[in-house]
Amino acid sequence: MSNCSNHKICIDSALSEAEKICQQKNIRLTEIRKTILKIIWQSHKATKAYDILDQISGMNFSAKPPTVYRALDFLLENGFIHKINSLNSYIGCPNPLQNDQCYFIICSSCDEIEECSDKGITNAIESVMNKNKFSHKNIAVEINGTCNNCLDNRK
Ligand SMILES: [Zn+2]
Ligand SMILES: [Zn+2]
Repeated sequence: MSNCSNHKICIDSALSEAEKICQQKNIRLTEIRKTILKIIWQSHKATKAYDILDQISGMNFSAKPPTVYRALDFLLENGFIHKINSLNSYIGCPNPLQNDQCYFIICSSCDEIEECSDKGITNAIESVMNKNKFSHKNIAVEINGTCNNCLDNRK
């Protein structure tokens, strides 16, 4: 996918956005939460929980798995990261304040994931749920395939 030319900018803006939102909500982006958010933002690929545990234990943290999972829950609840169910892993959210209509496109060639937003998809799902008389809580749309970059590289 490689839609970003300078990934440091992605990381910096994600972290400062998270700091800002935490300040506004009066919640704390503790050292462990921040570190995990950084680990997840290392790339635009999804990160598995055990990779996070691995990296954390290589640092100066004495964080046990429950601490890491609690921090992941915090990051999920506040929209700083998303869970990619089909990969059982996590991805950083570039727009934590406006992530209610997102879907994910997942390139199985470069493993990068892009978060996209389209009200049309949400509207379609909502209308189908009404027909099913079902009150949905979460919508997670994950689309697997190949990004344009990877398609071009194959030619
Ligand atoms: Zn980037
Ligand atoms: Zn790709």
